[in-house]
Amino acid sequence: MNFGNWEESIHTDYEQIKRIAFSQRITSDNVIVNTDKQKATITGRDGTYNVTLDSCTCYDFESRHLPCKHIYRLASELGMLDELPKINRKAAKSFKDNVQNDIDHYKELYLNGAISIEKFNKIVNALLSK
Ligand SMILES: [Zn+2]
Repeated sequence: MNFGNWEESIHTDYEQIKRIAFSQRITSDNVIVNTDKQKATITGRDGTYNVTLDSCTCYDFESRHLPCKHIYRLASELGMLDELPKINRKAAKSFKDNVQNDIDHYKELYLNGAISIEKFNKIVNALLSK
C-alpha cells in the first residue's frame, strides 16, 4: 500500500498492522470523507479528529508520528489501502500442521526461563485459537 508520504514498509510493522485492524472497527457513521481534498473528520471516543493521509489530530498520531487507525481508515475510504491478506487454505493447513512444533518451541523457552508461565499460556492459547 502506498499513500501519503509514508515509507511503504512501515505498514507491515506489527504496531501498524494492529492499527489497520482497529481502523476497520470505526463505525461508518463516525467518518465524514472529503474525497476531493483527501481529508476526513472522524469522531472517536475522545473527540473529533482532522485526518489527512499524512497527519491526524489524535493522541496516537501526535505521540508516534506514524499512521494511526484514522489515517488507515481514510486511506481505505479513498481506495488506497491494499486488500489485506486473505486466509489461504493451503497455508492455513500448513500452519495447523506445525502448531505442535510452535508450542514445543515456546515450551522450551518457558522451561529455559526465557518467558513466564503466563506468557507461555497466552501464546499457546493464541496458537490454538480459531
Ligand atoms: Zn488518528
